[in-house]
Amino acid sequence: MIVQMSEFIKNLKTPIAIVGMGKSGEAARRLLLHCGIPSQSVLTFDVKLDSVDFNDPAVLMTKGRPLTLVVSPGVPLSSAWIQDAKKANIKITSELSLACSCLTTEKLIGVTGSVGKSTTVSLLGAGLESFSKSFFVGGNLGTPFAEYALDVLKGVRSRADWVVLELSSYQLENCENLSLDFSAITYFTSNHLERYESLEHYYRTKWNILSLTKKMMLLNSEGGDLVEYFKNNHHEQIKVISKSDPTLVSCHLEKALLIGQHNQDNLALASSLAMAAGWPTTAIEGMKSFKGLVHRLENVGTFKNIRFINDSKATAMDSVLIATTAAHDTLESTGKLFLLLGGRDKNLPWQDLGPLKNFRNIEFIFFGECREIAQQKSTLPGASFSRLEEALNHVLQGAKPLDTVLLSPGGTSLDEFKSFEDRGNFFKRKVEEFAKS
Ligand code: ADP
Repeated sequence: MIVQMSEFIKNLKTPIAIVGMGKSGEAARRLLLHCGIPSQSVLTFDVKLDSVDFNDPAVLMTKGRPLTLVVSPGVPLSSAWIQDAKKANIKITSELSLACSCLTTEKLIGVTGSVGKSTTVSLLGAGLESFSKSFFVGGNLGTPFAEYALDVLKGVRSRADWVVLELSSYQLENCENLSLDFSAITYFTSNHLERYESLEHYYRTKWNILSLTKKMMLLNSEGGDLVEYFKNNHHEQIKVISKSDPTLVSCHLEKALLIGQHNQDNLALASSLAMAAGWPTTAIEGMKSFKGLVHRLENVGTFKNIRFINDSKATAMDSVLIATTAAHDTLESTGKLFLLLGGRDKNLPWQDLGPLKNFRNIEFIFFGECREIAQQKSTLPGASFSRLEEALNHVLQGAKPLDTVLLSPGGTSLDEFKSFEDRGNFFKRKVEEFAKS
């Protein structure tokens, strides 16, 4: 039974080819079918997958003869064959545009930026969790937006009152039906320059979110090149947010479970969005209780008065330094920080960790395949173990109330584990056993 069909989808010329059959491409396909587009009119294309109709763009265009391309964010719009299709008046659209065409009463917030998107969007999700009965958080992060639209049309979920979307610059290049009530940019720094002709082009693509915003766009005052960019692109709808704004100071964001100065900026931005959107104050309390994205400075909890932080994703020295500084800054005055370092080396500049030896009340513990090279290059003192489990047991014997245990290994997980997730889950399981012991 065809429940509803957006005018936009109804008017798309067929055949429609989905270009890129990842998670979002698959969701787009199902949405089109649900909206009544016959299955023989929906073609699938992916250069890497076997289970699709076409792998070669030339064959797709000559044999499939699509009149609409639904292009996934992973496929550059600047590809010669997509540009040729555009010139031949073939419509170019996206999964995001299909999903947006199915919206009715939802209010939307969009977040973009070079870094900090997932954290800010997840903070907003934690805020909504505290008061909203029906909300959706997704987009580039987690569930594709077309999946939300499909579930609403099928009646398996209710319409969200608020939708929060993480938007990559690629999505912002191709989002004709997107209309945001509020938006935010977290940070500007060089990234993905392989897909843009210049830094200015990359920034401009992200800045395009302003033209999609009806009410207000917020910027992080500590957002790298962002404020400089704003100086040359003033607009009355823009507000620059600083964590030292008196209203935010009164929210005591420093009491949040999420640690790190950069996360204070993300919290400031998310809280300001919540206030602008008129969310109740419980939303900000909800954000303060957010424990972090899994395996990224994730606050596992405090057990027997010892705090445990899982940063298993940290496989670059910068990430280790950020995590260690964040954990050290938030250490109780008499507490000690245990830093678990190790895993598999990938010729990492462990020497960058050398300055950590000047931190007070810190103990280093090395583990895994790279323990010797890591210790040698970093010149940090500390015990050394072949496996994470042994290293952790050693820490648990020595840790006292008010201490913090941080897994921010630097090395990859592949010496002992399948993935950084697997390593982080192992750490969390061990902490849980300790908590129950
Ligand atoms: P994204 O979703 O944009 O990739 P995340 O929220 O997953 O970003 O954060 C990725 C990393 O970027 C974090 O682990 C942290 O090191 C860094 N980061 C996050 N937010 C900020 C910020 N506001 N300022 C500076 N660095 C940040």
